[in-house]
Amino acid sequence: MWVSLYLTIALLENIRWYPIFEYYQPHSHTSSHTCMGPSNILCWAPKSVPAASSSLSAPAHPLWKGLASVPGGTRQSPINIRWRDSVYDPRLKSLQVSYAATSCLHVWNTGYFFQVEFDDSTEGSGISGGPLENHYRLKQFHFHWGAANAWGSEHTVDDRAYPAELHLVHWNSVKYQNYKEAIMGENGVAVIGVFLQLGAHHEGLQKLVEVLPEIKHKVSCPSCLLPTCRDYWTYPGSLTTPPLTESVTWIIQKQPIEVAPNQLAAFRTLLFSALGEEEQMMVNNNRPVQPLMNREIRSSFQAVEEGSEVGSNL
Ligand SMILES: [Zn+2]
Repeated sequence: MWVSLYLTIALLENIRWYPIFEYYQPHSHTSSHTCMGPSNILCWAPKSVPAASSSLSAPAHPLWKGLASVPGGTRQSPINIRWRDSVYDPRLKSLQVSYAATSCLHVWNTGYFFQVEFDDSTEGSGISGGPLENHYRLKQFHFHWGAANAWGSEHTVDDRAYPAELHLVHWNSVKYQNYKEAIMGENGVAVIGVFLQLGAHHEGLQKLVEVLPEIKHKVSCPSCLLPTCRDYWTYPGSLTTPPLTESVTWIIQKQPIEVAPNQLAAFRTLLFSALGEEEQMMVNNNRPVQPLMNREIRSSFQAVEEGSEVGSNL
């Protein structure tokens, strides 16, 4: 008990408080797991996802092109992850991540978000292990974010949203010839999702923030955008933009990364609209959560109750 109390006090001393909106309420995570850094011991999160982004069928914003839903789809993404319902799977190995800065090609404004593209003609950057049976090559990464800090992530955890979410998109280079083929096929795509929460300035993200005004420069390696803790949830899902194909193995990192408010604000300076058109801020480019249906969410770590884990030293 004393050990537990001491740990709790030690962790509380490291907590940073982020009073953003009255809308937010504290969400307590207590744990002794070695992976749990101070940044997600206690975080502020909205009470619920705003009504504007809670409709299952409506596109996230008026510029969404293509299908808003898949008729009869049984494994659509994103979803709400419930700590209590996710099942610890001891067979889940740690994810092997190998990213090379040299394979980065350019960053561009897709009209829906900005995207950093990689050379996927070789095995240069990719992932394996974790829930995956093959090697998957890195194709691109992008972010989803809201107009305000109360929402913006696509996935939610216990109905709470983060202000933004990073997606690192990979394709199965063992089963398929290229990304286009892979997104249409079984086990074709693997996406790592990383939540962004407000906090300290993120050095790795800054390099990207600085090129946003020019939008077509090389940026550095994305490994620095991953959290230090590699615990994850995994579930079978879909792309969250058209064609919404159900070819994705999702790997959602439990630990968010911290970014400064002005870094997130830089995302919101981008526009959906082209030059000469009426300006429309590039915000709320997150698809609403979809029904879990018959799927199981597996975790690479043990959770005994909402927001807590089994520690090895208590
Ligand atoms: Zn995405």
